[in-house]
Amino acid sequence: MECIFCAIVKGEIPATKVYEDEKTLAFMDINPATDGHTLVIPKRHVENIYSLNEEDGEGIMRTTLRVSKAIKKALKPDGLNLVQANEKAGFQEVPHFHMHIIPRWFGDGLKPPWTLSPGDMEKIGELANRIKKEI
Ligand code: AMP
Ligand code: ZN
Repeated sequence: MECIFCAIVKGEIPATKVYEDEKTLAFMDINPATDGHTLVIPKRHVENIYSLNEEDGEGIMRTTLRVSKAIKKALKPDGLNLVQANEKAGFQEVPHFHMHIIPRWFGDGLKPPWTLSPGDMEKIGELANRIKKEI
């Protein structure tokens, strides 16, 4: 079965588009978490963040900045979240990279995805070292 977001890029299925450039497309999410929930995707099929190259990543962020600032002006939200899901454990449903732009209002009912609790500093340092080695 064809990728649903590739089908949107090709115009094979409808989408409520808000912006596009050579490499990216922004369109409204059809199951909005809040009013104005928008998705930004690369036009090229890229499954998740691990297969996104830096050039496409820059394009995604450029479009995300543009759309976020337009949402702020147009809808005047109290806040805004960027959410980006990768793989099943990261709640990714559609296997074509997408950035969620979610305008936020006080009392909109969305909950933070984690709660703050102090970590073990030794373990935090060890984890950082493992990550640094791979960069
Ligand atoms: P996720 O993969 O969990 O980050 O989220 C996929 C998102 O894509 C969900 O918020 C869906 O509502 C949205 N979505 C799925 N199909 C469409 C579509 N045809 N048009 C717009 N948004 C869609
Ligand atoms: Zn795709």
